[in-house]
Amino acid sequence: MERIMHKCRKCGRETPEDVLKSNWWICPGCGGYFRMSARERIRLVIDEGSLRELDPAIEGGNPLAFPDYIEKLDKARDASGERDAVITGTGEIGGRKCVFFVMDSGFMMGSMGTVVGEKITRAFEYAKEHKLPVIGFACSGGARMQEGILSLMQMAKISAACRWHSEAGLFYMVVLTDPTTGGVTASFAMEGDVIAAEPGALIGFAGQRVIEQTTGQTLPEGFQKAEFQLEHGFADMIIGRRRMKETIANLIDLNTARPRPADRKKPV
Ligand SMILES: [Zn+2]
Repeated sequence: MERIMHKCRKCGRETPEDVLKSNWWICPGCGGYFRMSARERIRLVIDEGSLRELDPAIEGGNPLAFPDYIEKLDKARDASGERDAVITGTGEIGGRKCVFFVMDSGFMMGSMGTVVGEKITRAFEYAKEHKLPVIGFACSGGARMQEGILSLMQMAKISAACRWHSEAGLFYMVVLTDPTTGGVTASFAMEGDVIAAEPGALIGFAGQRVIEQTTGQTLPEGFQKAEFQLEHGFADMIIGRRRMKETIANLIDLNTARPRPADRKKPV
């Protein structure tokens, strides 16, 4: 059987898929990070056998009758095997129960339309109801232009659900992966109690060219990389893939309210 090869965008080296799968999708040549599907992300972070997907059947239509959108959706569904650009569910990370969402750059560049918005909103609502932390992996080209204003509405909708979850005293952590841009950056990707990022991830609102053309200014080298964002306070930490799971598990422990000794019930 022929092996599927993937080419590194940093060094150009080709690596077989099975090698990447057992190496956290990190290039053995230069240590660069490959983009991975949401399913692969789940396999690497969520404990085996603990996954229960939420709302797996939600599927969108073409609310604005945007030309060729249905064809594009069909193509993305065939190519990715997913119904839209996010997977939500409950599961355990190192034995800690949580609600998670993982966006998929392989589905129309992880763009956020009504399905993505609805699923992430419901994930926060489910987490609030069941008093669980939310762990999210953001990855998006931004709002889905084929759904116009309905896409932009998702920013406010998710932000409201995120706030109610937070007001209930519950923990939300988001990991920004390559690339996290546009309406996703301008809403729930920046609303975590902890905002982590993967090394080298592109994180920003508008692209470099758009900003330069609008402001007439030249931007510094690497100004939208995770490391730059960390230095300028947009991210709290950078976590490498090999330590992702244990770091999240530790952060869940640190940020989950436990009764103080005085509040504990006396032994019967
Ligand atoms: Zn490489």
